[in-house]
Amino acid sequence: MKNLSKEIVQRIEKISRPVKIMHVCGSHEHTIMQHGIRTLIPKEVEIVAGPGCPVCCVPSREVDECLYLAREGVTIATFGDMLRVPGTKGSLADAKADGADVRIVYGVNNAVEMAQNTDNEVVFMAAGFETTAPTTAAELVNGPPENFSVLSSHRLIPPALKFLIESGEVNLNALIEPGHVSTIIGTKPYEPFSEKYGIPQVVAGFNPFDVLIAIYMVLKQFKDGKAEVQNEYKRAVRKEGNIKAQELLEEVFYITSREWRGFPEIPNSVYEVKKEFSDYNAREKFDIEIGESKPLVTGCICGPILRGVARPEECKLFKTECNPMNPVGACMVSKEGTCNIAYRYGSFD
Ligand code: SF4
Repeated sequence: MKNLSKEIVQRIEKISRPVKIMHVCGSHEHTIMQHGIRTLIPKEVEIVAGPGCPVCCVPSREVDECLYLAREGVTIATFGDMLRVPGTKGSLADAKADGADVRIVYGVNNAVEMAQNTDNEVVFMAAGFETTAPTTAAELVNGPPENFSVLSSHRLIPPALKFLIESGEVNLNALIEPGHVSTIIGTKPYEPFSEKYGIPQVVAGFNPFDVLIAIYMVLKQFKDGKAEVQNEYKRAVRKEGNIKAQELLEEVFYITSREWRGFPEIPNSVYEVKKEFSDYNAREKFDIEIGESKPLVTGCICGPILRGVARPEECKLFKTECNPMNPVGACMVSKEGTCNIAYRYGSFD
C-alpha cells in the first residue's frame, strides 16, 4: 500500500503544475487531513475545501425557523450536529437547555417513529445534500402521521459550484467532485463546468488512494489539454446516477433559490417540499415568525472558509475560544466541518 501511494505521488510530481483544486466534501477533507495529503504533493498543487459540510451550510435563518418552532412547543428532531449550529439568537442546544423538546435522531425514519408515539407536533429539521434528501422524500411518499412535518434545509451541490466558479472569488482551476452526492445525481450535472468554463473535474471516492488518484487525473487532464468530467469512483457512481432516488426527489421537492451560510442567495440551490405534500411542510403548516436573521457577530470566518477563500488557521478564535468542545461557528460543530477537521488533524501545511 505504501509503495502504491509512493508511486501515485511520483506520478503527480512528474506532471505537477500550479493549480488550485477545490473539493466540496467533508469526507474528502477528512481523508486529506488524516493522511497528510497536502504534505505529500507538490506545494504548487493547492487543494482547497469548499462548502462540503451540509450542516455548516445551513444559514442562521433556517436555524432561527427551528428555534421559533422549538420555543412554541413543537418537538424538533434533527441530526446531532445541528444542535450547536448558531442562529441569530443561539442554537437548538440553547433552546433544549431552556426546556424545549429538541431530540437527536439518526435519520428521518426515527423522527417519523417519534411522531407515531406522541400527540405533539414533530418537525424533522432536514439538513443534507442530494445524498440524504431522497430518504426524506421516501418518508413523505410513504404517508407519515399527520403530526409530522419537515423543515427542508436540503441543498444541491452543483448550483453552489456554479456560483463559486462564476463569482471568481476563489479562482479555482479544477474540481474533485463528491462521491456520495454523485451516487445520486451521477456525473452529468457537472458537465457544463467543463464545457462552459474549461474546468477539469474528477468524481472521487474517499480513501487516500482515491483522492491521490483524483489529483493525478486532474493534473493529467491539464497535461493532455482536456477539460472533462472523469469518474475515479466507478465502483459506486454511474453516469446517470440513481434514477429511483432522482424520481423520488422530483416527486416530493421543487428546487428554489435560497441563501447558504457564507453565501448570498444561490439560484436553484435548495429543495423545498412541493404543494402536493404541503401538509408535511413545516413552513406551510406553521406561521413561523422570525423577523430579520443574521449571523451572530463573533469574529467567526466560517463564511470565507465555506467559500474556499480562507483557512481555519486564519481565524483568531481557532483552537482558542473555538474548539470542538466549545464551537463558536458551524465549521467547528460538525465532524465534517473544515475547522473541526483542522483542529483534530493539525494545520493545512
Ligand atoms: Fe468559526 Fe471557529 Fe472556524 Fe473560527 S475556528 S471560523 S470561529 S468555526
